[in-house]
Amino acid sequence: MTEINLHQELKKYFGFSQFKGLQEEVIKTIIANKDSFVIMPTGGGKSLCYQLPALIKEGTAIVVSPLIALMKNQVDALRSISSEHGIAHVLNSSLNKSEIKQVKADITNGITKLLYVAPESLTKEENVEFLKSQKISFLAIDEAHCISEWGHDFRPEYRNLRRIIQRIGDNIPIIALTATATPKVQEDILKNLGITDAKTFKASFNRPNLYYEIRPKTASVDADIIRFVKQNSGKSGIIYCLSRKRVEELSQTLQVNGISAVPYHAGLDSKKRAKHQDMFLMEDIDVVVATIAFGMGIDKPDVRFVIHHDIPKSIESYYQETGRAGRDGGEGHCLAFYAYKDIEKLEKFMSGKPVAEQEIGHALLQEVVAFAETSISRRKFILHYFGEEFDSETGDGADMDDNVRNPKKQHEAKDEVKLLIETVKKTSEIYKSKEIVNTLIGKSNALIKSHKTDEIALFGKGNAKDANYWMALLRQVLVAGYLKKDIETYGLVKITPKGKEFLKNPVSFMMTEDHTYDEESSDNIVS
Ligand code: ADP
Repeated sequence: MTEINLHQELKKYFGFSQFKGLQEEVIKTIIANKDSFVIMPTGGGKSLCYQLPALIKEGTAIVVSPLIALMKNQVDALRSISSEHGIAHVLNSSLNKSEIKQVKADITNGITKLLYVAPESLTKEENVEFLKSQKISFLAIDEAHCISEWGHDFRPEYRNLRRIIQRIGDNIPIIALTATATPKVQEDILKNLGITDAKTFKASFNRPNLYYEIRPKTASVDADIIRFVKQNSGKSGIIYCLSRKRVEELSQTLQVNGISAVPYHAGLDSKKRAKHQDMFLMEDIDVVVATIAFGMGIDKPDVRFVIHHDIPKSIESYYQETGRAGRDGGEGHCLAFYAYKDIEKLEKFMSGKPVAEQEIGHALLQEVVAFAETSISRRKFILHYFGEEFDSETGDGADMDDNVRNPKKQHEAKDEVKLLIETVKKTSEIYKSKEIVNTLIGKSNALIKSHKTDEIALFGKGNAKDANYWMALLRQVLVAGYLKKDIETYGLVKITPKGKEFLKNPVSFMMTEDHTYDEESSDNIVS
């Protein structure tokens, strides 16, 4: 298939004259029957990566997706570009016998180019048996992060996909797609789907038009939010709260203060939810106060602000939720309110869950704390989290956050960085941040005692500075790439080759003072 042809097909089916980002390369890979792995932020144009080759290739492409509403939208859109109703189908348990018969007939007759299925339906024996006998062009696994416990939406049934795919056919090419960029989730996807040789396509996650800001959350948070919304009156915005109760209360508070706001959460009946969503999309109201139930598949391009009344439980969620602002490339203000107390609340929610899940949840929360408390470029922090290098001086959107606009004081910390990395080395890379900081300030605990770290010469050598100082430095050194957190072990700190080089040849390191939000946050960091 030549390039010209692909452009023609793109125009013919979708009316677009250009591919977006990496789309063309991805499509060529699928057409060549090779496995591929696509990591693009929401709105990046992932769907077209499998829709176009599905329309071009012989046979039916199976698209696995967990979101029924999204599947229906896609099927409707595909039907609208074709004279053939059967060009796309959803196969799910809500279909009656005659509908199922029709779907199967359309597939057998080569009419259906895309068959959308939820993972539960794909695992059904009768469906596997049927699909085995059909010409399948390829398999697209949408929202592939659902396969990983490290993703924000783990679904155990995704774990069975590999086995099912093998039963349907041995050499069916696979395309996995996700907007989740953490290296750990990516590794899980490739391993679990058995496509470690897949060609990976990763788009940048930088959103240069978004402005990131974190403010301390105090008793006056509602008043702060009202002031912000009034300053931005007439603009569309989403305010996220953790609980349904808070959503209801805050939307009422906004209403009595003259702001046109509606609540949205899973506790409302579906009619009301749909109505509130429409009101927001049609701009009858300015603000939706919502739990995370709001947002999946919301494609309003001109959301001008996203406020987090409560800090989210991972950087991933923060990125997804703030990502709903400024889709059109225009202004997008992302304001989050942070108090360490909220982190403790989130920790509490996790207790009672399986230990591994708690460990993961805890490690993810620690990153949120680090993000909120850091005073380095927030964009650099986020992109580093997603495995991307960002130049905070010249990168796109470099000045678009509170930390960069109001820089904190910096000072030379070469000697301290050296002591920090030496401490990690001398303790054989067996500790997480907390124990490393405790070792530096000479504070013992059971773990430190059990390794006799309190008897080594280095113990307490950094006690001229306090725990907060060392925790801040550790975070900055992690982002600078001298140390890294090992994910498999839920956060043991290891020395990178760059860190080893630093020990041999220390260079200048300008440390930025961290934010101190409140007493709670400073006390709790290492307690
Ligand atoms: P994702 O699944 O990555 O969130 P979508 O597939 O929903 O993204 O695409 C986001 C938007 O971009 C959609 O409105 C889609 O129509 C549009 N789009 C996709 N590809 C192109 C293209 N080549 N040219 C113009 N618009 C495109």
